[in-house]
Amino acid sequence: MLFGALEAGGTKMVMAIGTERGEILEQTSIPTRTPSVTIPEIIEYFKSKDIIAIGIGSFGPIDLDRTSKTYGYITSTPKLDWVNYNIVGTIRNALNIPVGFDTDVNAAALGEASWGSLAEVPSGIYITVGTGIGVGAYVNEGLLHGMLHPEAGHVLISRHPDDSFDGVCPYHSNCLEGFASGPSIVKRYGKKADELEVGSKALEIEAYYLAQGIVNYILTLSPHRIVLGGGVMNREDLLPLIRKQVVQLMNGYIRTDRLNDIDKYIVPASLGGNQGILGCIKLAVLENSHYHLDPRPI
Ligand code: ADP
Ligand code: ZN
Repeated sequence: MLFGALEAGGTKMVMAIGTERGEILEQTSIPTRTPSVTIPEIIEYFKSKDIIAIGIGSFGPIDLDRTSKTYGYITSTPKLDWVNYNIVGTIRNALNIPVGFDTDVNAAALGEASWGSLAEVPSGIYITVGTGIGVGAYVNEGLLHGMLHPEAGHVLISRHPDDSFDGVCPYHSNCLEGFASGPSIVKRYGKKADELEVGSKALEIEAYYLAQGIVNYILTLSPHRIVLGGGVMNREDLLPLIRKQVVQLMNGYIRTDRLNDIDKYIVPASLGGNQGILGCIKLAVLENSHYHLDPRPI
């Protein structure tokens, strides 16, 4: 049986066909323009494939409340063409198959939990550090949603004493995304993370902020493992700095074997950049089983 996957991003739409074992059989991407241009292209791609369900991991914020009138909508995104866009309804009407839906970062967490670094632990979180910072939490064998979905990239953190940068988040003066996302590095230093000098203060500050976020997530969610992905994490010397600062900031408060083995506790993404699209395949698989148990229209 084949499943469709759509990773809906602000700059590109990644589409794939895969199996319930996490094999990707084909994959392609198109640029994200307006819904009236891009959605028909997506439908055209999937229409000719023999898929029985599709999973969408989307940029957001999105409405994930199945009892809400706007379930399946992209809601208040800064990408204005997509505000209040019914992505699930449109795709379901066109393809007439079950449509799984979650945030892009939750999809990546699900990909890691199904076939990657989180597959052998009971719970874990996936953090993407890219254009934004997002956190997906896998707990009790499912993704954590709560009233909406976690937006833990915006946790409030303390400023580094040597950093006077204002941050790039329009909502918060001192949140993690504002201080440590890819665009914040570019705006603060005039260069990208991959151009920062080895051993520089800039990298230490970046690690300090990410470590603060991670300590907050450890204290609130108690994950068994933490996976770090996203473009900024391609800077491989960042990970050891982050681990060191997490240990320092934790200051011995929590003592577990897992946390003691910090190199295995905080790890890089494991699925070669495919954690998001693989998670979308899993969303399709899960939606399909849910649909057969309870085929009410949602
Ligand atoms: P998105 O978050 O938009 O899905 P990415 O995860 O690729 O996309 O993140 C893009 C951000 O990561 C940009 O701000 C870019 O500067 C930064 N980035 C991309 N590639 C690298 C790299 N090799 N090293 C460091 N930073 C990178
Ligand atoms: Zn913020």
